Amino acid sequence: MNVDLHCHSNVSDGVLAPAELVRRAAAQGVDVLALTDHDQLAGLQEARSAARESGIAFVDGVEISVTWRGTTIHVVGLCIDPAHAALGAALETVRSGRIERARQMARELAAVGIEGSLEGAMRYAENPRMIGRTHFARFLAESGTVRNAKAAFQHYLVPGKPGYVPQQWAALAEAVAWIRSAGGQAVLAHPGRYGLASSALDALLGEFRDLDGEAIEVVTGSHSPEQYRQFAALVTRFGFAASRGSDFHGPSEGAELGSLPPLDPQLRAVWGGWGH
Ligand code: AMP
Ligand code: MN
Ligand code: MN
Ligand code: MN
Repeated sequence: MNVDLHCHSNVSDGVLAPAELVRRAAAQGVDVLALTDHDQLAGLQEARSAARESGIAFVDGVEISVTWRGTTIHVVGLCIDPAHAALGAALETVRSGRIERARQMARELAAVGIEGSLEGAMRYAENPRMIGRTHFARFLAESGTVRNAKAAFQHYLVPGKPGYVPQQWAALAEAVAWIRSAGGQAVLAHPGRYGLASSALDALLGEFRDLDGEAIEVVTGSHSPEQYRQFAALVTRFGFAASRGSDFHGPSEGAELGSLPPLDPQLRAVWGGWGH
């Protein structure tokens, strides 16, 4: 069974509309898909009805931005109730600083000679209130400032670079509590991407487990095959379930939907109890 529990539509920083994304997943052979837009539930209804038409199973998801010890980390919620009012209100507060942050990013980029980046980035943001670094990366790449979006992150959009503006996102405990109160399971997204030393990574995983975090992503577009093995071992050591998700953002941007290797069958899959 091909299960992909992490991807983005143009409701956040993906390229495809929710229905297009679902049709692409079905064409790629995905059997179970979760849409996990950043801090946003607005695409779920469209995606669910497209999944019904395409004959694939659909899981309501979200990817919540969190600040943990000064580092931005991401927590995916799966099987959440998309109509849960408290979750919706909480995500609204997480989203609320994005436009001001984008203005600040544009001011910093202008200070190093890159003009017009706010307007430029906005052209890629279907939903202006979800403006984020990916939209700036697309603008910087397509206007020829950098070779590609990856280089835009390397040179401008990460801590220490001129276009990076730190943001205070949700607390880890809050994000997990919101997901659980909306009936969902909390999954730590791409834990290999945060650049944490092994003692900090252990602390994060221990804290996440104590908060009743359910799973961590093992096979994700952000991990190398070596990291699949590293995080499989950590899943076992900490007693988590394991998840698999492409983190697809668009055709020719990173991993394709449903294309990554399967989870090691020794691991307990997060979807094991769902009845798909
Ligand atoms: P934001 O929420 O605005 O800070 O943007 C975060 C998004 O930027 C992530 O969800 C990824 O889609 C993208 N991103 C972050 N770091 C990188 C990177 N090094 N290379 C490519 N995309 C990245
Ligand atoms: Mn993203
Ligand atoms: Mn993420
Ligand atoms: Mn993601």
